[in-house]
Amino acid sequence: MGILPNKSNNRNKRPVFGMYWMYILIIACLFGLYYFQDSSQTKSVDWTEFEAAAKNGEISKIEVMPESGVAIGVLTKEGAKKQNLQDDIRGVETEKKIKTTIPSTNKIQDKIDSWNEQLVAEGKPEMSVNYEKGSDLMKLFWYFGPILLMFIFIIYLSRRMSGGPGGGGGGIFNVGKSKARIFDKDNSTDVTFKDVAGLAEAKVEIEEIVEFLKNPQRYTELGAKIPKGALLVGPPGTGKTLLAKAVAGEAGVPFLSLSGSDFVEMFVGVGAARVRDLFKQAKDKAPCIVFIDEIDAVGRARGKNPNMGSNDERENTLNQMLTEMDGFGSNNGVIVLAATNRADMLDKALLRPGRFDRQIYVDLPELSDRVEIFNVHLRRIKTNSHLDVEQLARQTQGFSGADIANVCNEAALIAARNNKQAVDWDDFMAAIDRIVGGLEKRSRVITDDEKFSIATHEAGHATISWMTEYGNPLVKVTIVPRGRALGAAWYAPEARQIIPTQALLDTMCGMLAGRAAEEVFLGKIGTGASDDLEKTTKLARAMVMMYGMSEKLPNINYNDSTGQDYGFTKPYSEETAKLIDDEVIRIINEQYERAKSILREYASQHNQIRDLLVKKEVIYNEDVKAILGPRQWKSRTDEIIEINKKEESNRKAIEAKDSSSSDDSDPGTPPPFNKD
Ligand code: ATP
Repeated sequence: MGILPNKSNNRNKRPVFGMYWMYILIIACLFGLYYFQDSSQTKSVDWTEFEAAAKNGEISKIEVMPESGVAIGVLTKEGAKKQNLQDDIRGVETEKKIKTTIPSTNKIQDKIDSWNEQLVAEGKPEMSVNYEKGSDLMKLFWYFGPILLMFIFIIYLSRRMSGGPGGGGGGIFNVGKSKARIFDKDNSTDVTFKDVAGLAEAKVEIEEIVEFLKNPQRYTELGAKIPKGALLVGPPGTGKTLLAKAVAGEAGVPFLSLSGSDFVEMFVGVGAARVRDLFKQAKDKAPCIVFIDEIDAVGRARGKNPNMGSNDERENTLNQMLTEMDGFGSNNGVIVLAATNRADMLDKALLRPGRFDRQIYVDLPELSDRVEIFNVHLRRIKTNSHLDVEQLARQTQGFSGADIANVCNEAALIAARNNKQAVDWDDFMAAIDRIVGGLEKRSRVITDDEKFSIATHEAGHATISWMTEYGNPLVKVTIVPRGRALGAAWYAPEARQIIPTQALLDTMCGMLAGRAAEEVFLGKIGTGASDDLEKTTKLARAMVMMYGMSEKLPNINYNDSTGQDYGFTKPYSEETAKLIDDEVIRIINEQYERAKSILREYASQHNQIRDLLVKKEVIYNEDVKAILGPRQWKSRTDEIIEINKKEESNRKAIEAKDSSSSDDSDPGTPPPFNKD
């Protein structure tokens, strides 16, 4: 093994005195207190009473402490009874003692001797004598030990609390310090813009922000104000944090990075203090960039009703952030970048120009972006030379950058498991299947009957998706159980900017096709379609309530995208609620009937697909094409690829022309304008 990275080295250097030792110490002290404390019962008596007890043989042992002038007599059973001393409530047998002050320390031994002589004469057992010094140190320990321990414990706890990433240590009083990690010239990330694939527009905006900081006068000379902040918004895994890391790597100015949740602590007021501290640090380091990941942790819209569900601490933190970003004080040269996937939840005040002037949308990658992302992640993977990356990108419609990174890694793992020299197409397909559908469960027992109905169901989906205009082209159908599903069909969904009504209806028809096939060809229906039905119902409801696509409630959207307006009340009447239900049911029923009629029309083809599925368990696009013939409609993805190719060849032609014309010119003359 190589040298461990720095981080773990640092961790190894941490003191061995961990939290567990503290627990052990506390438990040991408690035990000590329990066992070593003087659990005996002692009664104070006067000298005459003590003497009488000694003479009567009620004392078995005498402990004399000459320094404090005290004598303690350990009582016999009878003696204890006489003094009314009983065992403690736990039922533990304890020593019972009487204690007295000695009138004269010098003569005590003579006294004890005379009592013993008398006892011997009466035939009773002698008393033993013990002289004790009584350690003051020990007493001090028992008095102050627990308090001391508590102090040590509190100091230790406070050190731990302020010892998070970037925390400077130094006790509980440092809890209000920001936990930002600082990247600068000496401590930079190795991520650059080259590692961020696609996201062309987002990159341009972000690169411009870096430029603002490097070259502010270029903008201020023209009277432009430097933006204060930019918000990266987009679904999870689309590369927002990666983009910010690339800024850290390339900016050439200090970069302070922290997460929204770093402001949150169990103490009240800490969040606001940390925001203040963060901006103070940033101003000291200006020009610099502050990056707050998952800003929704603190930036969520403030509650309208202060008594209901609002979180004072979070609101204080947010208020402080609003003030810092656009308060009276100027933050010249500090640009705040933040990332979130819930921009709709953020407080409006945070989003207004002057705070986050720019919102940069980082969407799920398009086909060409996916090709680029694959290329970035395939750099470190040993692949087969004829791997079709474009085809891979087509198979991963709807995947985020993080999903694609995962596919590449998973494919490499699968190839390694099969002892291959390079990762090939099949490994990538297996990885995609695994990520989309979960692990294959070949061990699940399925009877021939069940297999037949699953095949009927899946063949239904395959047939309808092939025979409807907007149905997504099928990639593969399987009846091998995967994850929770008993069978599955993979489609290559078309990337569309605007989805027409018919596309939604065709999608619904395709989703209902499994259940329709069961009814048409088996004459009975089963529970296997529950997932399809759920998706169909949601889609139908969205058509009626969000997209205004129903006949009886056209052009109405009851959806509240801000999540703040409607609260507990519905924005429509009871009659409208009934209308909504009726429309949803009508749309679903119509598509179900449509699916059944298409299936009846193509019954023989459906049955061929079903039989092939039963035989082979997995069938592909080509098998379905051989049975149903080529699709009547052109794929939109194909159209996009064609357009991209045309644009690319045009660009190359222009470039070639440019370079040949510049060859003719004097090599010493600069180009007429800067193409960048
Ligand atoms: P979240 O909102 O969940 O925090 P995010 O948008 O911040 O997600 P990242 O953490 O930036 O997502 O991305 C996760 C991983 O996905 C990255 O480490 C990278 O490997 C991969 N990835 C995402 N987008 C891209 C991209 N455009 N180019 C290359 N890799 C990407």
